[in-house]
Amino acid sequence: MAKILYEGKSKVILEGRDDKSALVYYKDTATAFDGKKKEDLNGKGKLNAAISHLIYGRLEENGIETHLLEVVDDTSALVKKAEIVMVEVIVRNVAAGSFSKKYGVPEGTELKNTTIEFSLKDDTLGDPQINESQVTALGIATADELNQMKVQALRINEILSKIFDNVGIRLVDYKLEFGRYEDRLILCDEISPDSCRFWDKETNKKLDKDRFRRDMGNVLDGYQDVLERLQV
Ligand code: 5GP
Repeated sequence: MAKILYEGKSKVILEGRDDKSALVYYKDTATAFDGKKKEDLNGKGKLNAAISHLIYGRLEENGIETHLLEVVDDTSALVKKAEIVMVEVIVRNVAAGSFSKKYGVPEGTELKNTTIEFSLKDDTLGDPQINESQVTALGIATADELNQMKVQALRINEILSKIFDNVGIRLVDYKLEFGRYEDRLILCDEISPDSCRFWDKETNKKLDKDRFRRDMGNVLDGYQDVLERLQV
């Protein structure tokens, strides 16, 4: 068994084949509210791995460099070992979640433009929103890195919006993470129903982790539906 480098809430990062790679293992554990709500959902790891790998493949085809090197099996992949930038990049097309709550906008309101916001990657603080001058003041990322993340996030949003629209899914919002690798920033972590809000375009049925967060039941049916639609 390879050495564990880091264990997160939903993934384990193990030593890779050399010092430039790592092995990511997707766990079945579902968490919400910075880990305060936690449950094992049998098969979640496999579904998230399949969905994220499919999406990363499509992004690579469209010129976005991701950390994905090779899918190893149903629940793990070899990735480029990058140094994660400790801010989450939140992309929104439709008002929902914390945005709706904070600004008093009904969930489902179409936004006139895509918004990008940053939050500090720190569960103990509840991942607070942070602005660009605060990020640079704290030395978390440079102004140039912030700019690169915004440019890439908008490009990723164009690509993903098309992919999901084609399969009848509304790409409401999602979280991206980037990492420093050699001399550049690459897309890391995962893009899955754990990190995105996916709603059926016709019915607005939620197909993502909000089903878990809000105790709506049939959590993995939504994940399975997303996977099947992307596979066609
Ligand atoms: P909100 O700010 O509304 O809670 O989340 C916005 C979007 O980013 C949602 O799609 C949510 O799933 C995702 N997101 C925000 N923070 C995190 C996080 O810490 N982990 C994951 N997996 N997704 C997050």
